[in-house]
Amino acid sequence: QRDDLGEVEQEGVTGAILGNIVLAANVGSPADLPLVQKFKAQGVGLYRTEFLFMGDELPSEEEQVEAYSQVIAACAPHQTVIRTLDIGGDKTAPALKLPKEQNPFLGVRALRLCLRSPEIFRVQLRAIWRASAAGPSAVMFPMIATLEELVQAKELLFLARDEVVQEGYAVGKLEVGIMIEIPAAAWNAKRLATEVDFFSIGTNDLTQYMLAVDRDNNELVDLYQPHHPAVLGIIARVSQAAEKAGIWVGVCGEAGGDSLLAPFFAAVGIKELSMAPGSLPKVRQALLKLTFDAVGKQTLVDTVLDCSTAAEVIDQLKKFVG
Ligand code: PEP
Ligand code: MG
Repeated sequence: QRDDLGEVEQEGVTGAILGNIVLAANVGSPADLPLVQKFKAQGVGLYRTEFLFMGDELPSEEEQVEAYSQVIAACAPHQTVIRTLDIGGDKTAPALKLPKEQNPFLGVRALRLCLRSPEIFRVQLRAIWRASAAGPSAVMFPMIATLEELVQAKELLFLARDEVVQEGYAVGKLEVGIMIEIPAAAWNAKRLATEVDFFSIGTNDLTQYMLAVDRDNNELVDLYQPHHPAVLGIIARVSQAAEKAGIWVGVCGEAGGDSLLAPFFAAVGIKELSMAPGSLPKVRQALLKLTFDAVGKQTLVDTVLDCSTAAEVIDQLKKFVG
C-alpha cells in the first residue's frame, strides 16, 4: 500500500502534495543510496537490476541478495520496487553472449530473455525473495506484452518462493507488479490488473513503441514525444483501469520527473512518481504549489487530452503550473 504522506516541507513551503502522490527514486545500485537520502525520496519506485549483470561475469545469488537487501533496508519503511532483469534493447551483458539481432528493441529483451533463460531468472527471483525479508519490497516484470507472459513469470516467481522457504530462508510480503511500457499491455490493462498488485508505467519505452521512434536515435529526437496526446491518453486509460481494479499505478519513466506533467499525472490518479533523485525537488515543488480546488482536476485532464499535438499539451500545462 502507498504511504500516507501528510504534510511535506520544502524550501520553506509546507503543505500537502497534490493527489498525495508518492515521490520515489529510480536507482541502479546501492551506490545511488546517498542521492536517495539527500533528495528525501519516499522509497525506490524502480531499481534497475540489469547493471549488476553488465560485467564480465553474472552475479551470484548471494551478490544479488546483498545488492537488493541493502537498498530495501536503507529505504524502509518506504517500499523498494525491484525490477527483474531488463537486458537487450540498448543494454548488453557480455556474460550472456547474446546473439546480435536486427531489431533489438523489438527482440529478445527483458522478460522475454528471462523466460528463455529460466536458470538466470530463477537465481534472480530467489535472490529477490530472500532480500524481501529486509523490508517493504515489490517485484516488477518489464516488457510485458501479453497475459500469458505474466502468468508464466508469476509461476516461476512463486516456485522460487517455495524453494527458498523450503531451504529455511525468511521471506517478506512481496507486492507483484508489471511495467506498462508496451502499447498492447496498456490497452489490455483491465485484464492484466486482475493478476497484479500494481502497474508502473515506463514512459520511455511506451513513447518509443507508441510513436515507433527509437529512443536513442538522435535523428528523431523531435518525434520522440512523451507529451504526445496519444501517450498521455493511454496513460489516463491505464490509470482508470487500475483504479477500477483497486490496484495502484505509478510512472517511472523520464516523464515521471517532469514537473510540468506531474499535476496531470496526479489528476488522472497516478499514485507514485519515480524519477532520477535529482529531479525530486523540482517535482515536489510543483506539486506543493497546487490544489485540485484551484486547478480543477477534471479541467486539467480534459484540457490536456483535448490537445492535438505535444506542443499544444506543453503550452497548456504551462498555464496550470504557472
Ligand atoms: C521506461 O521504459 O520508461 C523505463 C522506466 O524503463 P527503462 O528506461 O529502463 O527501459
Ligand atoms: Mg523500459
